[in-house]
Amino acid sequence: MNKAADMYYDIAIIGGACVGGTLACALAQAGLQVAVIEAREPQPVWPAGSVDLRVFAITRASERIFRSIECWDAIERGGVSPFREMRVWDASGPGAIHFDCAELGEPTLGYIIEQRVIQAALNARMEMLPTLTRLCPAELGAFELGGDAMRITLADGRVVRARLLVGADGAASRVRGMADIAVELRDYQQEAVVAVVTTEQSHQETAWQRFLPTGPLAFLPLRDGRSSIVWSTTPQQAAELCALDANEFLERLSAAFDQRLGRVIAVEERARFPLRRLHAKHYIAERLALVGDAAHVIHPLAGQGVNLGLLDAASLAEVVLDARATGRDYGLHTNLRRYERWRQGDNSAMQRAMDGFKGVFGSSAPPLRLLRNSALTLVDRLAPVKRLFASHAMGLSGDLPALARR
Ligand SMILES: Cc1cc2nc3c(=O)[nH]c(=O)nc-3n(C[C@H](O)[C@H](O)[C@H](O)COP(=O)(O)OP(=O)(O)OC[C@H]3O[C@@H](n4cnc5c(N)ncnc54)[C@H](O)[C@@H]3O)c2cc1C
Repeated sequence: MNKAADMYYDIAIIGGACVGGTLACALAQAGLQVAVIEAREPQPVWPAGSVDLRVFAITRASERIFRSIECWDAIERGGVSPFREMRVWDASGPGAIHFDCAELGEPTLGYIIEQRVIQAALNARMEMLPTLTRLCPAELGAFELGGDAMRITLADGRVVRARLLVGADGAASRVRGMADIAVELRDYQQEAVVAVVTTEQSHQETAWQRFLPTGPLAFLPLRDGRSSIVWSTTPQQAAELCALDANEFLERLSAAFDQRLGRVIAVEERARFPLRRLHAKHYIAERLALVGDAAHVIHPLAGQGVNLGLLDAASLAEVVLDARATGRDYGLHTNLRRYERWRQGDNSAMQRAMDGFKGVFGSSAPPLRLLRNSALTLVDRLAPVKRLFASHAMGLSGDLPALARR
């Protein structure tokens, strides 16, 4: 029996990945007693020269959040790849748009970072915080409301009590399921093929995205000169692409990417993920809140998933800390409503925008093709509109939580 597991915490977070780990650090550095319950053991080292298949495009807002929880320096030491330009174009027409951080007066548009680099930095920060306890490996068993606390039983029988239980346990969230929170689900009937590739020409610190009739193909610049690809396509084509031998795959990929960086000459391991949209109908219940993929999953075409989750974490931390500062019980539904109102609308708008892009770019109907090509060209020429798009892509628009404003 772990002695720490019988303690009473202010907050218990199920899932200590990017979103749960960030929330835990934000709350513990403000002095709250936090328990993080995480099923997966940390991976402290990895083979030199290898690249994690899970790579995130991290916005400037997320960078600020990581700085606020004192993780950014460790993430930078672990390796980040800034991208200074973004080029998006349509495979079936002349429409194209180009963003350049210099035109926007910013040092960078964002960063490409391996998931394991962020996780290692968060784990190190969590270790340093005296009011944070990590229970790992440990899995959620059950929970029930008991007076002024949530009583959480772990799969191994240990019991944790907390005034607020947070589900940061990903798309298949058990917290959400056990709380009977319904979801809106849409299967995109698409899969994303991901891999690390080498191209003949340098990636030019640019994030590239070509819209094909079957879905978008992104090349994200890695710091060692290679690129991480996310190729969203039909499940049939994804299966076929993963089954091809390396040379055939490279040929198909070079053609699909229009040889924008010359030929693609090497590929590492390939993997594929089903793509779907999920949105929890509620983010909160009495003494319970959902953050990150537990609350919403979006299409990866704009690389916003984890960034939205980090904004959830920063917003929930602010709501909890504001309530504590004025002596209110932060676990009450009435108090958590502010968090739900704050984040649900923003996340829903981003999901709708992604669906809109997907619908418009996925159509081969001539009027839509013409419209989208004209729209891309028009936005590219209209500086104020373009600035608005760039500001959204960098995560710097909207009602940002304090941790993302610093
Ligand atoms: C192909 C693809 C590309 C993507 N690219 C991007 C991108 O470029 N940029 C971006 O922002 N997003 C991207 N995303 C989305 C991003 O991967 C997710 O939004 C993000 O990983 C969600 O983080 P999370 O912490 O909420 O959940 P997760 O990363 O799923 O973490 C959940 C954690 O909870 C733990 N857990 C689960 N159940 C339990 C339990 N019962 N008990 C204890 N622990 C538990 C798990 O072990 C895990 O550590 C992409 C997604 C896909 C599929």
